[in-house]
Amino acid sequence: MPLNRSNLLVALVLLTMVVGCVFRSDRGSVSRPEPAETPDASASPAAAAPTPLKRADVGDFIVEQQDLSVARFQRLDNQVKTEKMLEKAADKLNQALILPHTILIRTRSCAEQNAFYDPKDRSVTICFEMMERFLGVFKASGETEERAYERMFDSMRFVFLHEIGHALIDAYDLPVAGNEEDAADRLAAYVNLTELGEDGVKAVYAAADAFNLEAKQTVPSKRKFADEHLLNEQRFYTSLCMIYGSDASKHARIVDAGYLPKERAVRCRNEYQRTVESWRSLLEPWRKR
Ligand SMILES: [Zn+2]
Repeated sequence: MPLNRSNLLVALVLLTMVVGCVFRSDRGSVSRPEPAETPDASASPAAAAPTPLKRADVGDFIVEQQDLSVARFQRLDNQVKTEKMLEKAADKLNQALILPHTILIRTRSCAEQNAFYDPKDRSVTICFEMMERFLGVFKASGETEERAYERMFDSMRFVFLHEIGHALIDAYDLPVAGNEEDAADRLAAYVNLTELGEDGVKAVYAAADAFNLEAKQTVPSKRKFADEHLLNEQRFYTSLCMIYGSDASKHARIVDAGYLPKERAVRCRNEYQRTVESWRSLLEPWRKR
């Protein structure tokens, strides 16, 4: 299992860094079009059936191409564009999901180490600065240059789907009976572990490693405790719990090697299934297949 040890360099690099995404809290100010097709109890006896009606598909995930504005991100920009990472992600999402409006996805320099969903223009942005930071984290933990790139892009698959989680909660006006940041993490784990095969497993492992490396170097503070994101330690253990819960025998080493305490591990199968069932149920009216 690719779990890494941190070192002093990581501490220096990460001391002032903050994990997670900006989610601007003005969701409620965005006007949303009503779904074109809504169950109507007075119109059809089918409305009483347990299967919700499918909604009208009037939007797509669209990649917004941007010219590179900061020269040091040339390699990252090239790799994202030549491998068509965003286009491939958009294709998969568009094949799977009905949308009530367009959602833009983009990579760009943002002058901050972050990734975020912005409800104002309904866009998901992954900043090159965040990729650069995760590259630094994996390099400082002892990975080779090439391996660090690979693991950074793996972890970005988790980060991207976390932001897609915020975008879908906004687009579908989904109920969130809990912490939205945790709900977005769980959507990322759910999609990776159920839809993306071994690439998805690698993505959740890479995110767990990044949370773990940051957790070891972060001094607890009021600001961290008060933040809407869960603590890095919690995100690390929950990510491991999702992997372990998805297939306990395949991922037994997570527990056998002591990464995940047994007291949590015994609950992970149910926790994983509850996560999968919850997100499946929420997305069912919006699935194309
Ligand atoms: Zn978030």
